[in-house]
Amino acid sequence: VLKYSPFVVSFRKHYPWVQLSGHAGNFQAGANGRILKCFCQCEQRSLEQLMGDPLRPFVPTYYGMVQQDGQAFNQMEDLLADFEAPSIMDCKMGIRTYLEEELVKARERPRPRKDMYEKMVAVDPGAPTPEEHAQGAVTKPRYMQWRETMSSTSTLGFRIEGIKKADGTCNTNFKKTQALEQVTKVLEDFMDGDHRILRKYVTRLEDLRDTLENSPFFETHEVVGSSLLFVHDHTGLAKVWMIDFGKTVALPDHQTLSHRLPWAEGNHEDGYLWGLDNLICLLQGLAQS
Ligand code: ATP
Ligand code: MG
Ligand code: MG
Repeated sequence: VLKYSPFVVSFRKHYPWVQLSGHAGNFQAGANGRILKCFCQCEQRSLEQLMGDPLRPFVPTYYGMVQQDGQAFNQMEDLLADFEAPSIMDCKMGIRTYLEEELVKARERPRPRKDMYEKMVAVDPGAPTPEEHAQGAVTKPRYMQWRETMSSTSTLGFRIEGIKKADGTCNTNFKKTQALEQVTKVLEDFMDGDHRILRKYVTRLEDLRDTLENSPFFETHEVVGSSLLFVHDHTGLAKVWMIDFGKTVALPDHQTLSHRLPWAEGNHEDGYLWGLDNLICLLQGLAQS
């Protein structure tokens, strides 16, 4: 006898790919729940090592290098795949967003750069010195160091790169968001005052911090320009992952980092944990309010 039984059709929902930073052409959709990011050797090395580190649950699963249309990509887990109309935030960690080696290189032949002068003036017309105004140009090291002082990177050890909320609103213009009060407001607004979400984020970040403090990978790497990707949705799911390892490099000569000490050129300190401490503290404060 045939009987009707209820069955469930499972299908993959379609959701728009959301990218909060980087060049628009850097990413492509991959097969089922994966994405492709333009290949970078440094990132590959980091992701490969992270797959065997205690940090693995906090980074997108790495599926190796793939070729598509003659271009190389790193294939990784799409962290948005399990969410329904997610709200997303990219928080860039650390007290600087360039590598020490980049600064050294930029200083080798510091040419006057008109493009960087223009970017500087667009953010703050008062930033260039009278000489720089006269030249209509700034050097790259000057630009790199100035940029960090504009945002909360230098004052808090993290900065918000971009936010896209479930309601469709999007903001990637936090270049001048520096004060603790401003940053707090932005974070509050991101979670719409939902304490359930907030507490999940805090717990996840505390777990991440414990894991970072015990990670052989983290201890031996300068982690620069890497972000925490916050994702939550209306079902109450809320998670955070580390992403973007394009500037995560092994330290020379078995050196290790505290990730909390102030940076002095040559010590490679990146302020990652200092920034994370500040971020957790801020969110704990919100959770109590
Ligand atoms: P930049 O160096 O300028 O920050 P990038 O080209 O190195 O950019 P990423 O920072 O790795 O790129 O990623 C850019 C954006 O793409 C992130 O802010 C996030 O919105 C999205 N993204 C990156 N990786 C993932 C992932 N594994 N799953 C879901 N979204 C991701
Ligand atoms: Mg990034
Ligand atoms: Mg990057």
